[in-house]
Amino acid sequence: MSAIYDRVALIGLGLIASSMFWAMKRGGLAGEVTGYARSAETRDTARRIGLCDRVCDSAAEAVEGADLVILCVPVGVMGAIAAEIAGSLKPGATVTDVGSVKRDVIENVAPHLPDHVHFIPGHPLAGTEHSGPESGFAELFDNRWCLLIPVPGSDPAAVARLRALWEGLGSNVEEMEADHHDLVLAVTSHAPHLIAYTMVGVADDLRRVTDSEVIQYSAAGFRDFTRIAASDPTMWRDVFLTNKDATLEILGRFTEELFALQRAIRTGDGDHLHDYFTRTRAIRRGIIEAGQDTDAPDFGRAKKSS
Ligand code: NAP
Repeated sequence: MSAIYDRVALIGLGLIASSMFWAMKRGGLAGEVTGYARSAETRDTARRIGLCDRVCDSAAEAVEGADLVILCVPVGVMGAIAAEIAGSLKPGATVTDVGSVKRDVIENVAPHLPDHVHFIPGHPLAGTEHSGPESGFAELFDNRWCLLIPVPGSDPAAVARLRALWEGLGSNVEEMEADHHDLVLAVTSHAPHLIAYTMVGVADDLRRVTDSEVIQYSAAGFRDFTRIAASDPTMWRDVFLTNKDATLEILGRFTEELFALQRAIRTGDGDHLHDYFTRTRAIRRGIIEAGQDTDAPDFGRAKKSS
């Protein structure tokens, strides 16, 4: 495939940026890719492993002459980065981001950007619990969704070009409105992470009572929670602080349902429990049919690791 952008700048060099870099190289989607991360340690690691064609010591330097600038930092610092790079952006460039929350990013980034650039927020629905420059891999976005959130007045040609990049990275692309995105993600990602964090926290308290049994006999349910609860603390702190309303709305509904199930257990209402679990099982089948997970037992883990 021929390059979609001649010059791409990655700001933040963690899981998402490094995966984008390797996938851009795999597909020949970009000419030169520059990169910048906050710490000298991450920049040194990037240089050592060949992450980016050129690693710069400032965000402003990295974006100079770039046709596409991708903000890959935690949601809470997107605005500060936008302010830092605004004066160095090339006229006609596109600025996008990969943040997990969209309304907050739009409100904090857009005011800093000059009129002569296109701002097209985005969010790849792909990730792992690992972070940092060495955690990325080219296949991360294959067959995953990437949501683009064009803001009013977005140039259709610039949106189409960014769409082509994400398709080249392996994603299926859909456009969505920011508030709708934040509500959908509160249901599918943000609230589940908070629940996992809570469950692992409860087990950790219990561990002090039962010694190491919680770890030793860790069964599939709990083990899957621990994987989610190992996700980056800074990223997830920012997600909850910036998607407050939607997350609280979903957690309110969750609490009501939890109380209903708690009551069914106390009163011995087996029909309620059975009906509920039958409904939820159908959702799992839908996810498998949509190709968004594997139906292999225990998520395809090797037997010996269970
Ligand atoms: P990550 O692996 O933790 O990497 C974050 C990067 O941002 C690091 O290179 C870090 O630099 C840099 N950074 C942090 N604060 C900065 C600042 N103030 N100025 C400049 N650079 C700064 O994170 P990630 O998982 O790639 O996530 C990046 C974005 O993608 C987040 O907005 C997240 O919401 C979104 N996202 C994540 C996932 C996921 O599953 N992980 C999925 C979809 C979208 P240092 O290394 O020098 O600290």
